[in-house]
Amino acid sequence: MVREVLSARGAFGSRYAGSGGLELPSVSIADEALTRWTAAPAAQVFGEILEGYIESDLAVKISRLPLSSCYLIDSGKPGPLCTVSSGVHGDELCGVEASYLFFKDVVLGRRTLDWGAVVIVVGNEEAILENRRCLDVDMNRVFGGVGLEGREVARAKELEAIYASRHEALQHLQTEGAPLVADFHSMSIQSPPVVWGEYAQHRHLPYLGIPNAVLHQRNQVDSRFLRTVQGFSTNHHSLAFTFECGQHHAESTFLLAQRALDHFLRYAGVLPEPAEKTSLERLGLLMRTVENSKGFAFRDNPITGQPWKSFDVIRRNGEIGSDERGVHLMPKDGYILFPRSPKSIAIGEGAVYVLAQQEESLRNALNHSSLGESS
Ligand SMILES: [Zn+2]
Repeated sequence: MVREVLSARGAFGSRYAGSGGLELPSVSIADEALTRWTAAPAAQVFGEILEGYIESDLAVKISRLPLSSCYLIDSGKPGPLCTVSSGVHGDELCGVEASYLFFKDVVLGRRTLDWGAVVIVVGNEEAILENRRCLDVDMNRVFGGVGLEGREVARAKELEAIYASRHEALQHLQTEGAPLVADFHSMSIQSPPVVWGEYAQHRHLPYLGIPNAVLHQRNQVDSRFLRTVQGFSTNHHSLAFTFECGQHHAESTFLLAQRALDHFLRYAGVLPEPAEKTSLERLGLLMRTVENSKGFAFRDNPITGQPWKSFDVIRRNGEIGSDERGVHLMPKDGYILFPRSPKSIAIGEGAVYVLAQQEESLRNALNHSSLGESS
């Protein structure tokens, strides 16, 4: 049924049909994306777009890379190499949809690149089709890993040369500067959107289209983090960010992913449109990730009387929750991030919450600096 609906709309979808003007969508972007990506493999969905591509009509050259669901948009001019990664977790569709809409606009000549090249990577195709986070293992913990097994491991191995910007199909590009990588995600819980980056890269944050950021010091994160797309790409000399755009199926998440992708490519300097600054509302420095423990229960937020929400501020020595070993106190003024109810996860199954120190002076400095200034 879903397949029939899709094919009746044609390759370019109903929203752009007819006059060529933008019609009001009859279903939400989130619903439309879910239908699109669970009805056919990503390679087929992108492939249908490419069927309408007439090379001589465009200033850019578009090609399939010799890896499933990976595409190269090449301006033919020297410039930055930007990799747009999405769907590494198969139930996180905002980035897949944003990449698809951008790709379609380029194929149809509605957008173009001025300089450099953009690589589009759809990570975990099989899990996307099943709308599952993963099939065997968390793909965003296995890049560069050894001795691991599973379908995600095999796919990650295949993609490593892309994220390391050394795939042979990219060698003809005349790239300038460090390659850039944006990896798009969404979250199971409600949370404001957040961009994750390396502390050393903080000056780029106001140009990525997301008003909240968490930075980490590379030597403070555990080894699993180094096997994420961001960690692996950074290890291979890319400027890499993780975009967490909001809750999986929220409309705002899909809109934010489109905005963030646009900002990222503008800031990288591949698009004709100028970079745009977004004021940072919250900036945190990662302090710790707390794993599930026996008997753990959160306190309520004493100000609201409600359970903690992501980016609630807790003052130093505020009580976060307790387990059999005692009360968890906030070590410094900062944010609680992604508080997960332990009821829903088994012991040892991952983080219960993350703490980030508030970085107000850096946030103010970044908000008052201008493009090109390194604060
Ligand atoms: Zn994810």
